[in-house]
Amino acid sequence: MSHLIRGVAANGGIRVVAADTTDLVLDAQQRHGATPTAGAALGRTLTGTLLLSHVLLKNPQDRVTVRLRGDGPLGGVIADAGLDGTVRGYVMNPQVELAARDDGKLDVGGALGEGDIEVIRSHAPYGDPYSSSAPLASGEVAEDFAMFLARSEQINSAVLLGVYFEGAAVVKAGGVILQALPGADPAALDVLEANVRSFGQLTDAMRRMTLGEVAQELCWGLGFELLTKDALPLSFECRCSDAKAIDALAYFSPEERHAMIVEDGGAEVVCHWCGEKRWIEPEQIRAIEKNEIRCPDCQALWYRDGQATMVRENEVCACGRPVELPA
Ligand SMILES: [Zn+2]
Ligand SMILES: [Zn+2]
Repeated sequence: MSHLIRGVAANGGIRVVAADTTDLVLDAQQRHGATPTAGAALGRTLTGTLLLSHVLLKNPQDRVTVRLRGDGPLGGVIADAGLDGTVRGYVMNPQVELAARDDGKLDVGGALGEGDIEVIRSHAPYGDPYSSSAPLASGEVAEDFAMFLARSEQINSAVLLGVYFEGAAVVKAGGVILQALPGADPAALDVLEANVRSFGQLTDAMRRMTLGEVAQELCWGLGFELLTKDALPLSFECRCSDAKAIDALAYFSPEERHAMIVEDGGAEVVCHWCGEKRWIEPEQIRAIEKNEIRCPDCQALWYRDGQATMVRENEVCACGRPVELPA
């Protein structure tokens, strides 16, 4: 079971968040049919976003969305996580595979290319989302998260993220964020930096040790204290539904929806976040039309049930016809 632990070191001067995300990254890779390189980019981003939620968010309903955009063949990776331990995400081109780097590692940086990392915090149920961004440091994801925290949040941190494959399957995935809190002892940060530099591959350590032992070793000499008595369970979970899939079809014109019914006998809607396929029946498609009011002359959408009014009574439609809405 994927899980997350939190702790402190150096008398509270260093915050530690660590996660074993093996199961959920494997789940995500399979849902999206991602190659190892695309799966590594996705797994690192899912893990980093879960860790980041524990650095940036305070309220249980808040979410953080991370978008890495690059000019490489992957296109980009997006993940969305909350303090409840749920995360979802996708990579734009999951079929992309590049040759391994000279050191034998997956070339995630080359696949992502140059671009930026954008982090959006949304505060449910109201409040405007807050967005900030930084350039990608290397496209290797962990360095990009660290660069974002330093540049955009003035938070000094070390970020370790790893996804280890055997053949085409994920066998280990996880991550650690070590964050310097205000007032941290500079000598302790020097020790931490040396520990991180000599630590080696995170997934190698995770195959030998528990998550708590990994955190302890990274904080060697700094007195790691575990704060979570019970680890937080983590899972890949989407928030898509039949209702949202039907909403997506509302963006098509009545003619296009009619064609779906006649040519395909319904519509298949695929959720890009989780890969789930939903079949929408003809009567569900026809029901969309009953909730819409369109211009009788030009078919422009005037109003849709459940949505804010798009035009007002007595306004003039783009075609010139005065808008009439039923009471
Ligand atoms: Zn979904
Ligand atoms: Zn019109």
